[in-house]
This record gives sequence, structure tokens and C-alpha cells, in this order.
Amino acid sequence: MTLDIRTTTNTDATSADPERTSVDEALAALLAAHDPATESAVEFRGNQYDAGLAWVHFPVGFGGLAVRPDLQKVVDQRLRAAGAPEPDPASFFLALAGPTIVTHGTDEQRRRFLRPMFTAEERWCQLFSEPGAGSDFAGLATKAVRDGDEWVVNGQKVWNTIAHLADWGMLVTRSNPEAPKHKGMTYFALDMRSPGVEVLPLRQITGEAEFNEVFLSDVRIPDANRIGAEGEGWRVSLTTLMNERNAIGGGGGTTPKRGSGPIAAAVQIWQQLPADRRTPAPLDRLMRLWVRAECQRLTNIRAGGNRKVGNPGPEGSVSKLAMAELNKDILELCVDLLGADGMVGYDYTFRRPASLSPEGIENGVGHAFLRVRANSIEGGTSEIMRNILGEQVLGLPGEPRVDKDVPWINVPRS
Ligand SMILES: Cc1cc2nc3c(=O)[nH]c(=O)nc-3n(C[C@H](O)[C@H](O)[C@H](O)COP(=O)(O)OP(=O)(O)OC[C@H]3O[C@@H](n4cnc5c(N)ncnc54)[C@H](O)[C@@H]3O)c2cc1C
Repeated sequence: MTLDIRTTTNTDATSADPERTSVDEALAALLAAHDPATESAVEFRGNQYDAGLAWVHFPVGFGGLAVRPDLQKVVDQRLRAAGAPEPDPASFFLALAGPTIVTHGTDEQRRRFLRPMFTAEERWCQLFSEPGAGSDFAGLATKAVRDGDEWVVNGQKVWNTIAHLADWGMLVTRSNPEAPKHKGMTYFALDMRSPGVEVLPLRQITGEAEFNEVFLSDVRIPDANRIGAEGEGWRVSLTTLMNERNAIGGGGGTTPKRGSGPIAAAVQIWQQLPADRRTPAPLDRLMRLWVRAECQRLTNIRAGGNRKVGNPGPEGSVSKLAMAELNKDILELCVDLLGADGMVGYDYTFRRPASLSPEGIENGVGHAFLRVRANSIEGGTSEIMRNILGEQVLGLPGEPRVDKDVPWINVPRS
């Protein structure tokens, strides 16, 4: 069953707002009973989930209060002010897996997966891309064959961020090779500790191996861990992908402060430059980027406020595209401003990080300059974002798709 997490919005500012009231009451009760400054992060986030304040637009009993999604910002701001810990960065994929499971999963799956995902007791990774299927992810080849109450899975996934830390993977497979590519896919929750799952590091331009390749050899998955119907994997995946674009583009998280993030690093470098290097041309570049960063921030806030359904639509691609290109331009300016200093003092030793940051700015400008190159690839490339925007938002003619109705098995591939 697919759950529609659409909710109604009260647009009349002068009338009572029962949804806001129920959030305020739940917040007051949570904070009266639990002190986020003294409870452990796992404990407090568990209590937050039980109070319906994990994802406020989710159904009651599954971490939500069935109210409109923009009220989550109210919750996050209040809890942060009360000293609640930031979510574990390595649990980034809860922003993708949570909405996918609540939308397409059974009640039993929601009960099993959502709470430990929110508390970060169980971390998730995304097993979508394959060596022969990235942008054209619907062309994937990892095979799933039904065997009684189980499925047997064989194949290879790649670029799987944080898979080395993950307890569960969002796995998409080819269950019917005779059907056209979008119709023969099935989606599973994969226990990453199952026999036959092998996770190997892949080193990135930054030196670290934030992502991995994952080999699946005769892995057995109970049918109870299938998310959505057999053959419906494409539709389920779209929920994951749209939430991913939103999460990477900054449309899904807490509201960042004005001038924060990568642009703050650029301003700081500028302020520390000797006077003779603070010339009009780089200042002009800095100011243009500052304006773009502020427009991006305000657009995200407005889009979040306007969103009336839990799952973002294709418009999430706007912020993903803008953010990817903006981050690259800002970090390029940072390195230019630093001059020769921008080329030294960088730690390139191989490491497998314990967390994840698409901007990487916490690790310094040298790291971030290299890390943000990936922003226009991960979660869908900038070219693919432009295609989606052209077709689904602007209504321009679609790309020719010659293999759309052809059985997957007959589509030529390398
Ligand atoms: C840092 C990072 C983290 C990632 N994490 C994950 C993860 O956790 N899980 C996961 O499953 N995947 C992950 N990915 C993979 C990512 O989703 C893919 O790299 C991406 O979708 C592109 O696929 P590809 O690399 O196969 O490139 P390709 O699809 O082969 O594309 C190559 C080039 O062709 C262009 N192109 C392709 N098709 C078109 C088209 N129709 N129109 C115009 N241009 C086109 C692309 O824009 C690109 O420039 C990650 C990638 C990176 C860089």
C-alpha cells in the first residue's frame, strides 16, 4: 500500500492553527519530561520520535503528528534552543529512507525501521548506482530472483556513501528482466551484515573513502523486507531520489543562518587578506557569490514554507542544481584568494570517514574545494537536474527515450 502523506495547509493567518497548536503542545510535553541537554542523543531522539516530533508530517504512531511538513522547522528550532544535539552526520540517509518507508512500506516495516533510524542506532546507505547504471539508474542489472519467502540477489553497486558504517541499505534490483526497464525493478531493505555482502572502499579526490563499492553474492533477503510491490521499485525509488535532491540541495534541513556555510569561509579569507590584495575585482566576485548564496538560502526557506506535501517534487532539483554550482564557485574563489597558500597544508592520507559532509567545509578549505566537485555528480548530475527541470517544471519537450518500452533484457548495454 502507498501512503499519501499529503496534509492540508491553513493559509489564513488570522484563523486558529490547530496543527501548530498540536506541535506546540507536543513540544511542551516533551521538554517538560526530557532535558535534551542531559539525556544522551539516542535517548532524547527516541523520546522525540515517540512524541511525534521526528517528522511531524508522518502519521501518528510513526514519528509524526500528521500535520504539515513546514512545522518541522518550528520543532527543530525549539529543540536546538533547548540544547538538543545535532543529528549524527553519518545518519544523513534517514532523510531518504524515512520518507520512502513511510510512503511505501507496511506498518510492520514502519515500526521496525523508523525509530532506530531516527535515533541513529541503525544507519542506512543507498545502494542504487551500478558501474553500468548511474544517470540511467533504471537500467540497473543487479538481479533478484524469488525463492519461496526469500529473494536471492547477485550484482554490484558502486559509489555507496557511508556503506562501511551502514546497518541497512536501500537496495534496488532487477526482478523481471523481461519487462521494460522501469517496470521490472524491486526495492528492498538490505541487512548489510547478511552473508554475501562485501563492502570495499573507493578513494576519492579528497584522499578519503567516503564511498564504497558493494558486491552482492547470493545474498538472501526475506520477502518481508521488500519495500513496495514487486516490480514497483522505480516508483519507490523516485521518493528516495526526490528526498535526496532536497536533502543535498538544502531544502530539507534546518534553516541555515544568513552568511553561513561555504560563503562564510570565503568572507573570512577575504577579511584576513593583506590590504594590497583586497582589490576591486575579487571583491566583486565575492559580493556576487554572497548574493547568490543568500538567494539560495531564501529560496529554500520559501520553498519549504510553500511545501504542502511531505515528499518534495521535481522542484527540489532547483536547489540541488543551484547549490552544486554555487559551492564549486565559492570554493574556487577561496582557493584563488589564498593564492599559493591554497595549494599546501592539505592532508591527503587515505582514511574512511566516520561521518559525511557534502560541503566538507568543516575539514578546511583545501578539503572542501575538492569535496564540492562531487556536488554536481552525487544525487543526480547537474545535466540530469537540467533535464528534469526542463521537462517536469518548465514543460519543455522530453529527451528521446528509445529504450523506454523495450524489455530490459533486449536493451544493448556494455
Ligand atoms: C560523492 C558521491 C557520492 C555518491 N553516493 C552515492 C550513494 O550513496 N549511492 C548511490 O547509489 N550512488 C551514489 N553516487 C553515484 C551518483 O548517483 C552517480 O555518480 C550519478 O548519478 C552519475 O552517474 P554516473 O557516475 O554513472 O555517470 P554517468 O551517468 O555515466 O554520466 C556521465 C556524464 O554524462 C552525463 N549524462 C548522462 N546522461 C545524460 C543525459 N541524459 N543528458 C545529459 N547528460 C547526461 C552526466 O551528467 C555526466 O556528466 C555518488 C556519487 C558521488 C560523486
